[in-house]
Amino acid sequence: MMWNLLKDIWFLFGRLFPFPTKPGLRRVGNPGRSSPVLVTANFELTVRTVMETLERDGIDAWLLVAPTKGVNVWCAGGAGDFTADTVVSILKTSGIENLVDHRRLILPQLSASGVNIWSLKERTEWKPRFGPAHVKDLSAYLRNGKSRTEREHRHLKFNLKDRFVMGTNLGFNVALLLILPLLLASVWLPGLLWGTLALLFVFSVLCSVLAFWLPGKPGVQKGLSLGILGAAVFVVFTEVTGPPDPWHLIGWTGWIMVISAFVGYDMPSWSPLWRQDATELILGVKNTHVEILPEKCIGCHLCDIVCPADLFAYDSAAKKYAVVNLDACQACGACIENCPTEAIVNNFRSGVCSCPTCAVINGVGALTRKGSERKPSEEVAATVP
Ligand code: SF4
Ligand code: SF4
Repeated sequence: MMWNLLKDIWFLFGRLFPFPTKPGLRRVGNPGRSSPVLVTANFELTVRTVMETLERDGIDAWLLVAPTKGVNVWCAGGAGDFTADTVVSILKTSGIENLVDHRRLILPQLSASGVNIWSLKERTEWKPRFGPAHVKDLSAYLRNGKSRTEREHRHLKFNLKDRFVMGTNLGFNVALLLILPLLLASVWLPGLLWGTLALLFVFSVLCSVLAFWLPGKPGVQKGLSLGILGAAVFVVFTEVTGPPDPWHLIGWTGWIMVISAFVGYDMPSWSPLWRQDATELILGVKNTHVEILPEKCIGCHLCDIVCPADLFAYDSAAKKYAVVNLDACQACGACIENCPTEAIVNNFRSGVCSCPTCAVINGVGALTRKGSERKPSEEVAATVP
């Protein structure tokens, strides 16, 4: 009971860190030989959410928990820890082929950043499909029995609650990353440590919750506008509470704007593409450019099926896709990973996640590693050819 409560608190603040649960096969309800077979990551919160959702909705299913180093689906896909190798590994070790009469396999849509569905088809006798982006739509997808997800179930939507949780996690991570330099600096500047930690946390939550309404496009502009507002509130507050020390006032006013701009700058990093903001800010070039080469496109629909941001539109006369909503791109790489003809050109796909958490887990070298250098974990490599 106490352990579960502690885990719930941790997941509110630290869900960007791995939290492994044992890989393997789970029964949801009372599955039979025709029940659906689903795959997910071995991140405890994900497994728990999938199982609770399906049980609540009265769905019987087999759930394959793949060895993704305890990382959640989207991050593991972007980091190269949820790939075709990972899925082959859990298929081979779980014994699922003896428990069902069919070979339909449903993958989480967000694993498409790492799982190449064509490779999976080639290497197994299973017929893999990508399911919906959100777990809450999984039961509806399973019930309607269609192989392709409904359009509205493919697109990521971050509601207020999602953005609040993202903000608390961002604040916690940034605070952890900066705690050592802040501790050192607080030897000379007492009060800096706790003041800065509080600012980091408050601005992370506000930046995330208000992201859609703050002015500016790059996160740093949004953060700065929030910081200017925060500094103004601070000035008014110090005027009301007593005559401020001018140096104290100038120092903290500037620091509030720096912290808020930093948090805004860092906010987009919690996607598979860190430095996205930096390139755009420093070089002034659009750094999430994806483009379809019409001569290579065979109209297989897969880019549209895996894209969580609704970027593509089908030209039914030409039987090809085109990019129509470039600004919405999340740089997840799912379309690029799954395009069978390499028709999608881009200027960002590195093939590995380069966010600070992944850099800590996978080593700083991961920041520059290319997609072709992805290696399966030892656990996965031992079970796949
Ligand atoms: S995945 Fe590639 S080939 Fe298939 S529709 Fe998209 S661009 Fe065309
Ligand atoms: S277009 Fe952008 S958001 Fe959509 S799948 Fe490709 S990389 Fe991801």
